[in-house]
Amino acid sequence: MVKLEELVQYAKTNGFIYQGSEIYGGLANTWDYGPLGSLLKNNIKSAWIAKFQKETKENVLLDSSILLNTDVWKASGHLGNFSDPLTECRSCNQRFRADNLIEQFDKTNADGWSNEKMYQYILSNKIPCPSCGAHDFLPIRSFNMMFQTYQGVVMDSANQIYLRPETAQGIFINFKNILRTSRKKIPFGVCQVGKSFRNEITPGNFVFRTREFEQMELEFFCKPGTEKKWFNYWREKMVSFLTSLGIKNENLSLYDHPKEALSHYSNATTDIHFKFPWGFDELWGIASRTDFDLKAHQTQSKESMEYLDPETNERYIPYVVEPSVGVERLVLSFLLNGLEMEKLDSGEDRQVLHIHPRLAPYKVAVLPLVKKEHANYANDLYLELAKTFDCIYDETQNIGKRYRRQDSIGTYLCITVDHQTLIDDTVTVRNRDSMEQIRAHVGDLKRIIEETMIF
Ligand code: ATP
Repeated sequence: MVKLEELVQYAKTNGFIYQGSEIYGGLANTWDYGPLGSLLKNNIKSAWIAKFQKETKENVLLDSSILLNTDVWKASGHLGNFSDPLTECRSCNQRFRADNLIEQFDKTNADGWSNEKMYQYILSNKIPCPSCGAHDFLPIRSFNMMFQTYQGVVMDSANQIYLRPETAQGIFINFKNILRTSRKKIPFGVCQVGKSFRNEITPGNFVFRTREFEQMELEFFCKPGTEKKWFNYWREKMVSFLTSLGIKNENLSLYDHPKEALSHYSNATTDIHFKFPWGFDELWGIASRTDFDLKAHQTQSKESMEYLDPETNERYIPYVVEPSVGVERLVLSFLLNGLEMEKLDSGEDRQVLHIHPRLAPYKVAVLPLVKKEHANYANDLYLELAKTFDCIYDETQNIGKRYRRQDSIGTYLCITVDHQTLIDDTVTVRNRDSMEQIRAHVGDLKRIIEETMIF
């Protein structure tokens, strides 16, 4: 696997990801997605929607606001509890998440520990400051990660609101609306893709942890007592989503949270870890959240969140199973999983992004062999294919260099227009991974490309 610095460089030079606000010296830990990065992100989102919503007839989509009534965050517990344990080194003034300090020191998982317990652990184990080596940490305090802002012209506490730290709450507060208007019956799920904001204490590792990121969350509502079955169902679906899109098994591991470490509202939680350059770390989480969220909103809003089963006439508040993943962590995983430097038989090095065609920024490149003779035909073919697929057109430099360029950005097929094409409407179709070429009629291209995108 490539090193993280190599990936950052690759992502920048090929137009996947740039440093945010670069011409002004940057803004720490912000990233802009360039021409290829934005295509990749879109493809990841559309693949997730395909598997978690479109191909699951129980599930629907939602696009709720980023700004929500502050009562939502009171009910969900975010105002009171959405905090990380912050400590500061008195010697160099660097700030750290105390649970991370402990985990990095001896792999101890401090999830669910009190601030005092973490502080005593740091002192008694003489954990040094990772930055200056001193043993002089300030007591730990809870730092709320919600971004505050103001609505309207007056900046007073009455107008204070928050940017959402997760997309899930927008789904919970619309549970009754969706139930009424979509005529769904339990079990059913609501999928949402959108930006979330967390004022993380220690963002970093490129796009792994940022303060602004995109989440894809499914809240699956089911009858109490059936949640274990649905938890297993969605957990399997998450793994098969990743592996069917080419993530290698050896890059994945599953971490089931032990019972004693579960959050108070959860009766099962699993994290899917990916092998990042710094070790296995969380890519995707699934939690069985009982009726905690709907109940909390029922109490706060005084609106009933009960479901009336039309067949049995039972009334209950549904249980919820929630798979939740960050788009950027998937971007990072697919790039790390696929980027390789290969040695060819000729002795040459070839950089290839082995990424599933469904996710590849460009499915095909259309290349006229000789610009003067084949550009008109190639241009028409490009316009025709671009109606259906993400395509790129390239007529500069020799054909070998153009193939290499497309390999390195993951373009799955290269279609070359040559003198034979002008005679019989056939083209060469070159496969990125095998580098094999076949001759195909232009009328068959759409079918050939579509077949590669199935997953
Ligand atoms: P972590 O332990 O890494 O802080 P978390 O357990 O708080 O993550 P969740 O609240 O479960 O994360 O969020 C669900 C998913 O959203 C995560 O699995 C991850 O893919 C993504 N995510 C969470 N925080 C960030 C972030 N700051 N930057 C990028 N992605 C994030």
